[in-house]
Amino acid sequence: MKVAVFSAKKYDRDGFSQWADRSLQFSYHEIRLNKDSVKLAAGCHAVCVFVNDELDAEVLQQLSELGIEMIALRCAGFNNVDLDAAKVLGIRVSRVPAYSPEAVAEHAIGMMLCLNRKLHKAYNRVRDDNFALDGLLGFNLFGKTVGLIGTGRIGLATARILRGFGCQLLCHDIAQNPLIAELGGRYVPLAELYAQSDIISLHCPLTPDTKHIINHYSIGSMKDGVMLINTSRGALIDSKAVIAGLKNRKIGYLGLDVYEQEADLFFENLSEQVIDDEVFKRLLTFPNVLITGHQAFFTKEALQEICQVTSDNLLAFASSTATGNELVN
Ligand code: NAD
Repeated sequence: MKVAVFSAKKYDRDGFSQWADRSLQFSYHEIRLNKDSVKLAAGCHAVCVFVNDELDAEVLQQLSELGIEMIALRCAGFNNVDLDAAKVLGIRVSRVPAYSPEAVAEHAIGMMLCLNRKLHKAYNRVRDDNFALDGLLGFNLFGKTVGLIGTGRIGLATARILRGFGCQLLCHDIAQNPLIAELGGRYVPLAELYAQSDIISLHCPLTPDTKHIINHYSIGSMKDGVMLINTSRGALIDSKAVIAGLKNRKIGYLGLDVYEQEADLFFENLSEQVIDDEVFKRLLTFPNVLITGHQAFFTKEALQEICQVTSDNLLAFASSTATGNELVN
């Protein structure tokens, strides 16, 4: 089976070379899949895509006309795929539902610690032989209240680590996870989570219900100086509202691994280019904002699992079977 891999990086090629079966032939394309690049899938049976590839109804229609029968997502989130359109066109869509929840959870915790203890500043200071501590004052995580929005795989993994730190856990989800109670966590309405949490970490998917769940109104109901962490999807946050919250000191710390308009920025080296995104550039001016470029998933263990499960999903389709990772069958 021939597979066109979009948004392909060297680590994807390396990963698939280790795991791909001889019956899978990969052709790699560094560019993102969208209506302009879709023709590169010609001659293939499947496309393999990542978080910022665009699989709207128009692109899916074009893929179908090219003979594409399967879309293999090498990620867990699927907000970038029009599943209804894929179903109508009879295109199978599979994903990697849980390659490493711990990878993302550990990154979220890393952001909390870095922002709190100002490790990003300390790193540069010490390299400059500046050993002064002024401006590096942090706070103990022990005893603090952390609000988790979304308590699926990653939210639960985050809760487990925070429990070890001695944090109080307030949770919100449309479906309660019984394992949260075992960690001493408590489900509360969003209003209570916002009002009580010292740190809020987002672990729900991007859906019409969760788009801009963090907005002017919700920020206004948070504690003064709250720490906000988003390792989930950029559009959960209204970036302009967050900038206003940073300016009026409501938000004391902001950690972002994802950004609403990241498709034009992340995963590329743009260090020699002028970046036009004024909102993103404004975010970077705040001393209490830490941004990473969608790297929470990026561990050796997660990459290995992504390549293995994606290959399994493709091979299952080739042999007319299923793995259980199908979103559309
Ligand atoms: P999951 O499906 O296991 O858990 C998601 C949870 O969110 C579920 O419990 C679900 O009930 C809950 N949820 C859904 N709608 C909600 C709502 N309106 N309000 C509150 N909770 C709601 O998914 P997961 O594996 O934990 O991943 C969570 C998200 O993390 C993914 O959707 C993806 O967007 C993101 N992610 C980011 C990275 C990264 O590298 N930054 C990597 C993997 C996943």
